[in-house]
Amino acid sequence: MTSDGQVVANPRFLAAAAGELAAAQRVLAGCRPGSGNRRRARRKLAKLHRTLANQRRDFHHQSARNLINTCDVIAVEDLAITNMTRSASGTVEAPGRNVAAKAGLNRSILDAGWGQFLAILLAKAEGAGRRVVKVNPRDTSITCSLCGMRCVRPRQDTVVCPAYGGMDADLNGACNIFTRAGLGSGRAA
Ligand SMILES: [Zn+2]
Repeated sequence: MTSDGQVVANPRFLAAAAGELAAAQRVLAGCRPGSGNRRRARRKLAKLHRTLANQRRDFHHQSARNLINTCDVIAVEDLAITNMTRSASGTVEAPGRNVAAKAGLNRSILDAGWGQFLAILLAKAEGAGRRVVKVNPRDTSITCSLCGMRCVRPRQDTVVCPAYGGMDADLNGACNIFTRAGLGSGRAA
């Protein structure tokens, strides 16, 4: 989600891949060590990983190209700082074993993608003469982009400001990043 409301949805192949990878891993785990089945299962798993990696890279190139074509300045959260705050807070919901494992797999697939996307974006930005500003991600997801007060987040997709009420969580976060980069209020449009 960009600060002007442009949504780049996670492509369906990521969710599909999580299911396929989990299934292939289960098959591999059930194969006898040293057996031909095990060798085939391992090959199949490796092939799924390669296919996913290729699809993801293409998607990142395309998304980065779109941003470069439409924006003069691009602000993003500083990945190094994000990693630190994430590991410190350690958010693990545990709604049930399989659900949690699948969610974890989904998340790790998405997380693995973000660093690559940023690297591709930075390279394209440099080539095209665009400026990229990295900002501290601290509390961007929970601070109100309109008044600066701390919001509550009753659901993943919603934040609620004590003064302004409910807002889209991703849009609010993107506007905070915009503001933090010194690009204005983030609500100019
Ligand atoms: Zn507010």
